[in-house]
Amino acid sequence: MLRIEGKSLAQGAVIGKMRFYRAPEYEIDEGDFDDSEAEIERFFTAMEAVKQHQLALAEAAEAASDSEGASVFTSHAALLEDKGLIARVVEFITGMKRSAEFGVKVGFTDVADDIRSLPDPYIMRRSDDIMELEHEVLVELMGASGGPSFGKDPFILAAFDLTASEVARLDRKSVLAIVLKEGNFNTHAAILAKGLGIPCVIRAEDLAYSFDGKDTIVDGTEGLVFVEPDEDTVAEYDEVMKKNREFTDSLLRLRGKMTVTKDGREVRLYANISNPYDVETVLENDASGIGLFRSDYLFLKDREYPSEEEQYLAYRKVVEEMKPRSVIIRTVDIGSDKSVPYLQLPKEENPALGLRAIRISLTRRDFFKCQLRAMLRASAFGHLRILFPMITSLKELKECKQILSECEEELKKEKVAVGGYKIGVMIETPASVFIVDELATEADFFSVGTNDLTQFTLAIDRQNPDLDRFYDPHHPAVIEEIRMTIEAGHRHGCLVGICGELAGDTSLTETFLRMGVDELSVNPQFVLPLRQKIRDLDLRS
Ligand code: PEP
Ligand code: MG
Repeated sequence: MLRIEGKSLAQGAVIGKMRFYRAPEYEIDEGDFDDSEAEIERFFTAMEAVKQHQLALAEAAEAASDSEGASVFTSHAALLEDKGLIARVVEFITGMKRSAEFGVKVGFTDVADDIRSLPDPYIMRRSDDIMELEHEVLVELMGASGGPSFGKDPFILAAFDLTASEVARLDRKSVLAIVLKEGNFNTHAAILAKGLGIPCVIRAEDLAYSFDGKDTIVDGTEGLVFVEPDEDTVAEYDEVMKKNREFTDSLLRLRGKMTVTKDGREVRLYANISNPYDVETVLENDASGIGLFRSDYLFLKDREYPSEEEQYLAYRKVVEEMKPRSVIIRTVDIGSDKSVPYLQLPKEENPALGLRAIRISLTRRDFFKCQLRAMLRASAFGHLRILFPMITSLKELKECKQILSECEEELKKEKVAVGGYKIGVMIETPASVFIVDELATEADFFSVGTNDLTQFTLAIDRQNPDLDRFYDPHHPAVIEEIRMTIEAGHRHGCLVGICGELAGDTSLTETFLRMGVDELSVNPQFVLPLRQKIRDLDLRS
């Protein structure tokens, strides 16, 4: 038995088989490959598939009158036919007797490096295109586009690290637990992983490929992993799992009960979701509504922008199934650590401060309108609240509302039903806190995003694992910003909720209630424990 120490990301314990997911960056097999011909054939097949995909994207861009986008995809397709590039890859495969993946990784990087050293900035940019295509071809070669998957049998997913897109693509029915050699606490990948409601251990430094297929215990509560556990450890964890089940079952008696303190203060206890299929868990845990549907999932899971129809069906499913409870859908918050290659976003030095969230929406209006139209159409089927992320000025909020009205007008002309809806702003930058009184004149509600609010208030990159000890969501400045938001919201009759991770931090529940928060939105599995916590509170003392 091997005992590996890591850090707890999400609680719980399971026993199962470990399957090691090798993301493209890590999967390159450097061994000898004698059958070069077969590898070359695999290489050409992958190149052709990616080329066809780029041509399809070009066609779609053309149809959407996006001539700039169309020319990017067309030139990508042309690059995939570049004789010099192909010759370099073939040289590595045959000359060094290596895999197609190895040939692509080294060949593409080599050519990109050569181009980068040229003085012409236009040609230099081609090196970025080549690196992007390298990723696409590798994904195609390794069949990784569907994300980590190992058939139907449930398994414990191990990996060096996972991106937010990879977590979004997981088949949640088959993953029992996640163990990462690296990983981080505050990234979107981590937040999505926590939302799966399964045990997660990160920073398990001794994790190795060779454990693939081995029986494993994951203890997400203690941050431990046991590979090939001995009988005593299995017996010990059988007991732990039994106790966990009993505890979860004991919380079920709180379903249908009010979320109210001993002295009668009632709070809306909502759930955060990132996938329309999470509604089932939300209802099982009896949340009073959805406080944050991170629509980003729809944009991360595929290799193309989701159509209006696809989005509409997803939003409609959620509002309809949650009816009469209300649902807050946040417009897309991609960019930063949530990369979407098909959007062709520029590489940035400081992506968390860059073109992300509402800034993308306001820059790519067609995409934004497509999402807003889908939401408005869904509003006819339940109680929808629309939430705009990363707002830093009143002008941005007014622009969002203007575009929303345009969409509503269009739909009305098309005789498409639109229901009632409310408009909200994520308070997740210090700028939004300082202008919260102004924002309140144009908004119906606020939702405090403590993850980004902490990052931007403390000027600490939430993704940098070396800064964990400085990333302090309990910092008095953050707490004060929450208080200011609640007070200002209430001055103007706006509801104020918290949907960042801090909403589920029971050490602050009393503080938030005393501040007068109206709504707390947490992962579905935290709903009942938080209801218990609130029912135990007495604010009179
Ligand atoms: C937040 O920033 O607190 C939040 C809820 O948004 P996200 O974590 O998706 O950035
Ligand atoms: Mg945020």
